[in-house]
Amino acid sequence: MSLTSRFFTDPWILMYNMSPQITLLTSKSLLTKSGLPGSTFVINPYNGCLFGCMYCYAAQIARWKHPTEKWGSYLDVKINARELLEKELKRLETRHKAKNFGSIFFSSVTDPYVSLEGEYKLTRRCLEALADFGYQGEIAIQTKSPLVIRDIDVLKKLKKVAVGFTITSLNDKVSRFLEVKAPPVSTRFKALKKLCDAGIATYAFVGPILPYFVNKKNNIKKLLDKLEKVGVKEVWFEHINLSPKIKERLYKFLKKQAPELILEFEEADIGRYRKRLDKVIKDALKGRGLKMGLGEVIYHRKTKKAKRACK
Ligand code: SF4
Repeated sequence: MSLTSRFFTDPWILMYNMSPQITLLTSKSLLTKSGLPGSTFVINPYNGCLFGCMYCYAAQIARWKHPTEKWGSYLDVKINARELLEKELKRLETRHKAKNFGSIFFSSVTDPYVSLEGEYKLTRRCLEALADFGYQGEIAIQTKSPLVIRDIDVLKKLKKVAVGFTITSLNDKVSRFLEVKAPPVSTRFKALKKLCDAGIATYAFVGPILPYFVNKKNNIKKLLDKLEKVGVKEVWFEHINLSPKIKERLYKFLKKQAPELILEFEEADIGRYRKRLDKVIKDALKGRGLKMGLGEVIYHRKTKKAKRACK
C-alpha cells in the first residue's frame, strides 16, 4: 500500500471526529496590532481552529488559553465581533482622521471560514462592518474553506480586498492527512475559480511546502499549472516552519502514522534543502503570468518579512 493511501485509512482521524468544544464569549478587542510586517492589523473572529492542521503554528500560540485541549477540538466564538469592530473603527477614524489605518489580515490564529462560520457568520459580519464603514485600506483574507464564496456579495463592496487560499497539495488525500478537518484541496480550487470569475482578487499560499509530497520539480510545476488554469495571478511560497514546538506536535503524529516521513521532514530543516527548493520554484515560475509574493520563498525563522501568515 502506498504512503498516501495508507494515511487516509488510519483510524487516528476518529479522534478528531469527536464533538468540538464550543465557547461563546464577548471579547474586549478585535482589531489587533499585527506582529506580521506588512499587515498593520489582524482580525481573529474566533480563537482556535477546528481544521486542526498538524503543522499549525497557532496551536502553540493558543495553548495558554486551552492548555489541555487538543488543537482542532475547541473553538471560542467572539459573538460581539461586529459590534466591537464598529467601535474600534470609529475610534481609529477619529485618531487618524481617515478611513485607512493600514492593511488588515483575516486571520492569524484561526481560519476566518472555519466550519462554524456557516452558523455564526462572524467573519461575514466583520466584512459587512468594514464595507459599511467604507474602509479604504487593503484587506487580505486567507482560508482553506470554500465557505468564503458565500460572501462574494460583501467582498464586492470592499475597496481593496484579496482572498487567498492555502494550497499545500493537489491531492485530497494528502491535504486530509495533514490538514485533518480542513476542506479538501479540490474544493479550494473550485472556490478560487468562482472568486476569479466573480472578479475578486485572489492569491494562493503554498505553505508550508510539504516535504515528500510537494517539494519535487514536477509537483511544483503541476501545482502552478493548475493555479494558472483557475485564474490565480499571485502565488506565495513558504518553507515549512519546524520550530521546536511545531516539531513536537507534528513528529508525535508522524511517529504514530508514518515514521518513515520524519527523515524527509528533518531534511527540510536544512539550509541546503531550502536553497535547492528556492531554485526549483523560481525556475518553475519563469515564463508564467504568476507574480511571486514577496519575490522570494518565505522562511519564518530567517526573515520576518511575511505579510500573509501561513498558519
Ligand atoms: S493552519 Fe490555519 S486552517 Fe490549519 S489549523 Fe491552523 S489556523 Fe486552522
